[in-house]
Parts: sequence; structure tokens; C-alpha cells
Amino acid sequence: MPLLCKECNGRRFPIAFPGERDALWLCEKCKNFANIKDEFIREWTEKEIEENRLKLKNFNSDVTTEKTPEIKRRSGVN
Ligand SMILES: [Zn+2]
Repeated sequence: MPLLCKECNGRRFPIAFPGERDALWLCEKCKNFANIKDEFIREWTEKEIEENRLKLKNFNSDVTTEKTPEIKRRSGVN
């Protein structure tokens, strides 16, 4: 398993792509993907970096807004 990056020895994360059979392994530090055989596939693109950044941002804001009165509102629905 290409769990550790060959270049920086950092942890890689499996990223699934729609239509791809196997996940690719991302090193966030080196910004590249390796396949299941630990072979270099391609760079992590600027677009993907940006998307990932937004995803994390949304995730964090979801967590912080968890205490919105969503449940209270539901009690008024009949
Ligand atoms: Zn690396």
C-alpha cells in the first residue's frame, strides 16, 4: 500500500474518483498522486487544491453552525 510518500515519507490519503476503479493516493505535501502500486500518476492540480480547500472550509463551517436552531424549527412543522 502506498500509504507513505516515497519523497517526503509523509502520510498519503486515498482519494476516490468517479469512474475510476481504484483510489489514487495523495500526498498533500508533495502535491502529487500515486496509484495503488506506489507509482507516480500526476500532480495535484491547482483546481483540485482549491476544491479541497473549499471542502474543508465548508466542513469546518458545518461543524461550527451545528448549534443552529434547526431542530427547534422542526417542531413547528406539522
Ligand atoms: Zn510527499
